[in-house]
Amino acid sequence: MSPAALVQTLRKRLSKPTGYQLFDIHLKQRIALSPSLTRFVFTGEDVALMHTLAPDQRVKLFFPSANGSAPDLPKVGDWQAARRTLKPEHAPPMRTYTIRALRPDMNELDIDFVLHGETGPASRWAVHARPGDPLQIVAPNAAYHADPGGYEWIPPQGVRKILLIGDETALPAIAGILEQLASHPDAPQVQAFIEVPEEDDCMPLLCGVHTKVHWLPRLTLHKQHGEGMILAARELASLPPTRANLNDSAALQELDLNSQRLWELASAKRSEFYAWVAGESAAVMDIRRFFINECGLDRNGLTLMGYWKLGRSLE
Ligand SMILES: Cc1cc2nc3c(=O)[nH]c(=O)nc-3n(C[C@H](O)[C@H](O)[C@H](O)COP(=O)(O)OP(=O)(O)OC[C@H]3O[C@@H](n4cnc5c(N)ncnc54)[C@H](O)[C@@H]3O)c2cc1C
Repeated sequence: MSPAALVQTLRKRLSKPTGYQLFDIHLKQRIALSPSLTRFVFTGEDVALMHTLAPDQRVKLFFPSANGSAPDLPKVGDWQAARRTLKPEHAPPMRTYTIRALRPDMNELDIDFVLHGETGPASRWAVHARPGDPLQIVAPNAAYHADPGGYEWIPPQGVRKILLIGDETALPAIAGILEQLASHPDAPQVQAFIEVPEEDDCMPLLCGVHTKVHWLPRLTLHKQHGEGMILAARELASLPPTRANLNDSAALQELDLNSQRLWELASAKRSEFYAWVAGESAAVMDIRRFFINECGLDRNGLTLMGYWKLGRSLE
């Protein structure tokens, strides 16, 4: 072992494990799931050191920088500080994705990417990626024994009705949530509404007997991004009884989606109803307005997340 490698190994052993850590991965295989979604199976020795706690466990992926070089942030020390010192053309773009499956014993990690063309560094990479291509990822660290967070699927105690609404970017999480619920012996009733680009993106999902999945393909329904999710919330979903006398002072303020990310989490420890909503930010904002300001639903039972924003890049 070279002296530099020895110093790195010693530093790693001496430093306390952190909840999330930077790892090296490379592409093993790409599997087309549908016209708009492709599964990327990543591998590498580091995959065995990762961990996942929930079906919507998020990770940060680093893509090749504007000058074309592969991400190479330091795995020891402060990668965020190191990234800040890089010139913009050398800094690897970072984007958020969901762990669809992790098989540490086989050194395999699945992430399902929406292919939305070459408008952003992540989707551009996904369009062209070939087996062997290296990336870096910040993911939960198996050596960390406390809860690292990074997931929002936390159904309250006593929940009897679950509503899931998402678009194709939330489909990996929703698919995992439905699988988890299917293995639950006393699963609550679940309504899942999934907006996707086209009919052929509606794919078989493993789900329990109390689950009803509704697909909303934009092309067939002549809808724009987010309109299927809004239709689901406003017209198709069966919601708990709404409050008759809405108190205007309880109405929520709008958020400025140009400067803020919509990320509001259910806080109820117990609730009969729980909604988990994720997708294009303006659509989730409309659903927030409808559920809270128009229907008077208790916001403590609602998890509302802007996963991406039409016309803007979000890390
Ligand atoms: C917690 C979390 C989990 C996520 N999990 C996944 C996942 O598992 N799979 C997945 O594919 N995405 C997922 N996303 C969404 C993903 O992070 C965004 O779509 C991201 O913007 C893609 O980066 P990009 O470099 O391709 O495009 P960006 O550089 O961010 O954006 C460039 C342009 O593309 C547009 N754009 C971005 N995403 C889309 C899209 N899906 N469809 C159409 N236009 C788009 C933007 O509006 C912008 O105009 C997740 C997001 C969050 C917050």
